Amino acid sequence: MQIVIVGAGTFGASLAWSLARAGEDVVLVDQFEPGDARATSGGESRLIRCGHGADELYTASARRARALWRELEAETGEQLMVEIGMAWFAQREDGWEAESERAMAAQGIPCERLDPAEGTKLFPSLGTADLAFVLYEPEAGVLRARRAVQALVRQAVAHGAKRVRGRAVPGGDTTVITASGGNANDAAAAGGAAPGARLFVRGEWLEGDAVVWACGPWLGRLFGDLVPLTVTCQELLFFDGGPAWRSPGVPGWVDYDLAMYGTGDLDELGVKAALDKEGPPLDPDADLPAAGATEPDVRAYLARRFPALADAPLKEGRCCRYELSADSNFIAARHPEHERTWIVGGGSGHGFKHGPALAERVAHALRGGEPLPERFGLGQRAAGRSFRTAGSGVR
Ligand SMILES: Cc1cc2nc3c(=O)[nH]c(=O)nc-3n(C[C@H](O)[C@H](O)[C@H](O)COP(=O)(O)OP(=O)(O)OC[C@H]3O[C@@H](n4cnc5c(N)ncnc54)[C@H](O)[C@@H]3O)c2cc1C
Repeated sequence: MQIVIVGAGTFGASLAWSLARAGEDVVLVDQFEPGDARATSGGESRLIRCGHGADELYTASARRARALWRELEAETGEQLMVEIGMAWFAQREDGWEAESERAMAAQGIPCERLDPAEGTKLFPSLGTADLAFVLYEPEAGVLRARRAVQALVRQAVAHGAKRVRGRAVPGGDTTVITASGGNANDAAAAGGAAPGARLFVRGEWLEGDAVVWACGPWLGRLFGDLVPLTVTCQELLFFDGGPAWRSPGVPGWVDYDLAMYGTGDLDELGVKAALDKEGPPLDPDADLPAAGATEPDVRAYLARRFPALADAPLKEGRCCRYELSADSNFIAARHPEHERTWIVGGGSGHGFKHGPALAERVAHALRGGEPLPERFGLGQRAAGRSFRTAGSGVR
């Protein structure tokens, strides 16, 4: 089977690795080099955790992904996942964290309920006045995101995948036409749309039995109402907490109800802290703006949760894009009119870790195996509870 994959973020690169190592004939197209900061999978780190409230599918998917990331590490000899552990700060006895605890226990995934006083042992300083308990996932941690995507692509190529640099445009049926940095007009100039799963790249047509579009924030522009995504600008802030805040040692954390998350200082990047409230809209092709707008909110949070960091110097701020589906479920489905075209995306701020596990599902479906979950379908969806954080903001 020949499969053309457009998009080498965590979803497309994982699929390329999965299919190429299974012996399939893979062509992987991207407009950028793997790990580019303009893609949602760019950046240094992403949390990997199994807690997803009561949701069994994402809980199991994250656990499966952990095993697959380990397989990638074994192939490359690189440490891509660092199990620094992760603390969920629960303000309620019966909220997201309690649901996560039950779902993880049912699947045999290690997690411990700590009373707030025990929770203080995990961090150099921790404000616990509002906490009912802390749920600790010892095998959660951080993926070195940019390096992980680069490793996926490198290993896909090592297993025989062909890489193509260029911008693709859907043109009729399952046709894909690319021209470096181009658009639909370039595509027409290059020969126009043609039937079949074909790809025109710098004078060469490539054939595919399937074309998978894993184009992150660009999917909405490519497929319109079939993929209704909101693309937003999100900030990541890194603070200088000094040696006491280094990870491993200090775990990652998520405050689901307050829409905040972060990690200790991994790889001397600084203590990462981010407000997870949806940011302002940002066009997929717009330059990433300078970060800093969320600093007052993040500092207010740090003063409350990690008092020792209240005045920590800001080392760096970065912006990147979320591509949010209305219910924060992923998108992975066959095109309704073009049976060889598939669409994969909608990471919704929690997709990175799942890359290899989602790829495994998509690979089965492409080969005619188990269909993809209905909730990953195309088209409009009703709003739903977020699998990221409550998104309500700290104030
Ligand atoms: C600030 C932030 C924090 C996050 N934190 C976490 C976290 O802690 N844990 C977690 O699991 N997830 C997290 N996420 C979410 C996760 O990073 C995303 O869900 C995931 O990276 C999406 O990957 P993707 O492959 O769908 O998209 P992308 O990484 O954007 O990849 C899409 C690729 O398609 C290419 N492309 C698009 N259009 C075309 C075209 N026409 N032709 C050729 N190439 C094209 C792009 O160049 C790009 O490389 C976070 C995201 C952000 C922004």
